[in-house]
Amino acid sequence: MRAKILGLVAGTVLAGGCGVGPHYSLNVSRRVAPYYARFEAAAVQHGAPAGLTRGIGARFVPKLPGRQVGVCVRHPTRGREIKFSAEAWLAADDAEREQVVFHELGHCALGRGHEPVGHGSLMEPALRYGAAEWLAVREWALRELFSTGRGVTRVVD
Ligand SMILES: [Zn+2]
Repeated sequence: MRAKILGLVAGTVLAGGCGVGPHYSLNVSRRVAPYYARFEAAAVQHGAPAGLTRGIGARFVPKLPGRQVGVCVRHPTRGREIKFSAEAWLAADDAEREQVVFHELGHCALGRGHEPVGHGSLMEPALRYGAAEWLAVREWALRELFSTGRGVTRVVD
């Protein structure tokens, strides 16, 4: 498995932002919105409620510290927001962007933390799947993402 470390790091949880805000089309970058839509579709397919991304903003910053691609931030008053590194986004392909957005929404929308490295979860702290591999593991990874994240065993291929 190609270990592609792009450094997804969880945001510091400052307070429990309740996510009240306009629908994401108003506060989510147009570049990110299609991935939010995919996340919503995947959520429903895997038995999660609709509207999980509602109120979670998404915007680009020129660069994030270190090798971070994205970060989920909970503002004490402004709710949840994901910041993406514009530099890393430009260098990423569709599969990588999807993994980054889904990982950050795993934090911001699902409230998940990081999983230990080695099981293949999207909630591991580092992005790991190349495009072809992502295609092969995507369904498993989504099922894991929308589960509790525990007790899902990946069939080793
Ligand atoms: Zn993370």
